[in-house]
Amino acid sequence: MVDEAEAAIVRRIYREYLEGKSLIQIARGLEADGILTGTGKTKWRTKTIKKMLSNEKYIGDALLQKTYTVDFLTKKRVKNEGLVPQYYVENSHEGIIPKDLYMQVQEEMVRRANLKAGKKKRVYSSKYALSSLVFCSKCGDIYRRIAWNNRGKHSAVWRCYTRVEHGPSACDAETIPEEDLQMVTVKAFNQLYEGKESMLEVLAQNIHQVLDTSGESLEAIESSLEDLQHQLLKKANSKQSYDKLANEIFELREKKQNIMVESAEKNGYKKRISELEEFLHGFDLEITEYDEQLICSYIQKITVYDDKFNVEFKAGFDLNFEK
Ligand SMILES: [Zn+2]
Repeated sequence: MVDEAEAAIVRRIYREYLEGKSLIQIARGLEADGILTGTGKTKWRTKTIKKMLSNEKYIGDALLQKTYTVDFLTKKRVKNEGLVPQYYVENSHEGIIPKDLYMQVQEEMVRRANLKAGKKKRVYSSKYALSSLVFCSKCGDIYRRIAWNNRGKHSAVWRCYTRVEHGPSACDAETIPEEDLQMVTVKAFNQLYEGKESMLEVLAQNIHQVLDTSGESLEAIESSLEDLQHQLLKKANSKQSYDKLANEIFELREKKQNIMVESAEKNGYKKRISELEEFLHGFDLEITEYDEQLICSYIQKITVYDDKFNVEFKAGFDLNFEK
């Protein structure tokens, strides 16, 4: 069981993660506020936080039987040997994290996990809005910010990470002055402003498309699950074997999990479209300066080509800008 104090910490961690904080930033924040871990330690490990972010017990129903866990990243089902099978009835305890918040976090974890190029992992950094958003078209790697301090004169450029690490023979992607990159985002927003009316039409169409794709019914699965769980409890109570039933329940649980992820993705997309719509409605003056907050809210990815930048918006469309 989770008590109210722990619940508050869990909610804080979920909220901060969705606000774009990295695991290490969340950990440092908790330590700075003198919050102790579940085992009474002052030091928070990122591993602990990651575990909490994917602990389904917080949404009020644990996966049936801890002998199987579903890994959201690989969608693989892992059998955990050596544990005594235990059955579990859904919604038997109250959740402290709403399901859609939980699903948003799982989606964000997948997004951050995808921020790796080739076999190398890149650490997610949220210090600059453009970190983890800018990619090299040539090798697929991420662009990294490099700050210069030339006799007290500060400047910054962005460079392909492969090139930084292995030199121009590995990737000959160009170095981009930070102002150029920032200017592209300003142009992108101003282009939205100019094409506001037609953009709003496109967004409305995109929303319709999302709504049109109907998936399998969650209610149907839930009601068969409930039924099977009752049967299982009866069998267990009368000491009959329930392996076959348990297996059926696993399969249904997995199906349900997949549908939930799918619908979280759909809802996430829908939400991003309506956010941009709302923003566009109130967007009545061109912007003149680089705005970190706008980037975080609406831009998904910027790809650097030899001759152009491609700016991809979270609402599901992209714009090109010549260099
Ligand atoms: Zn590159």
